[in-house]
Amino acid sequence: MCLACLTGPMMVAPIASARPEIFPAQAPAPGWLGPDALGATITWTGCAGIVLDYEGTKICFDPFVSNPGVVDALLRPAKSKSDLVQRAFGGVAAAFVGHTHWDHAMDVAEIARGNPDAVVYGSETTTEICRRQGVSERQVHTVVDGETRTIGPFTVEAVASQHGIVPIANKIDVLELRGTGMPRSPFRWPRGQVFSYRVAFGGRTFYLHTSAGFEDEPFARQQPVDVVIACLAARQGTPDYIARLGRQLQPKVIIPCHHDNFLKPVDDKPQPVPRLEWPVFLEDCLELTSKYGTRLVQLPRGRTVEF
Ligand SMILES: [Zn+2]
Ligand SMILES: [Zn+2]
Repeated sequence: MCLACLTGPMMVAPIASARPEIFPAQAPAPGWLGPDALGATITWTGCAGIVLDYEGTKICFDPFVSNPGVVDALLRPAKSKSDLVQRAFGGVAAAFVGHTHWDHAMDVAEIARGNPDAVVYGSETTTEICRRQGVSERQVHTVVDGETRTIGPFTVEAVASQHGIVPIANKIDVLELRGTGMPRSPFRWPRGQVFSYRVAFGGRTFYLHTSAGFEDEPFARQQPVDVVIACLAARQGTPDYIARLGRQLQPKVIIPCHHDNFLKPVDDKPQPVPRLEWPVFLEDCLELTSKYGTRLVQLPRGRTVEF
């Protein structure tokens, strides 16, 4: 028996097993956002998708559940899976889009079709790609940095931001919508301008950091929040990413998102996104805990969680 085998179970296992797994099946224990329940719910629908539901109003962010596989994403026109989209986002009053890449925006036109009173908020590129899919002017609204919108009990501020740096893909990324028709395939969907969203409701504030970059000035005006929902994909190119979120927002809770592989169907067991570097993220969270008392809270994908 080698030394590693001998010492492994004694020295490594207890530390490793104490670490939170990447995709827990259980919801966080009640009281995860303080002892007084608000009567609201949050659902992480996969990728950067989040649904908030409070006082009978439901809004969503970066709603995407159609998850085409790699062949469809590269070679075929984008096609939403209506049943999955309605199951996840049926009844929403608004959909806020961080940027227009397909893994954030591919399902918003389908949401607008299935929810005729819903309005899609996002960049010029987001609203234009909706129009090109037949969404009416009444159902789209282009946001600008610092703009706030009120939807029922929610006040949502658009905060100009930047995309995380994706190695190689960055070099072939489509930035703006060209020509007149739709992009040939999901992979060709343009990025457009990037926004994060700050959401206040019921005395709580959430910050949805939808992609792992920063726009310095808009981010510098942000005040502390209760919850930051942090995109983990492609964060390695942004120096001190989690530390910087912590310094500016001093969150009570950090919730990871965009850490599942969105080329796999949403009803399968979640797999990590390439280069997730989960242990590094956990170390970064410990740093936030020591400085601001931040707690890591994980939402099981597709499961509605109360708070
Ligand atoms: Zn993107
Ligand atoms: Zn993305």
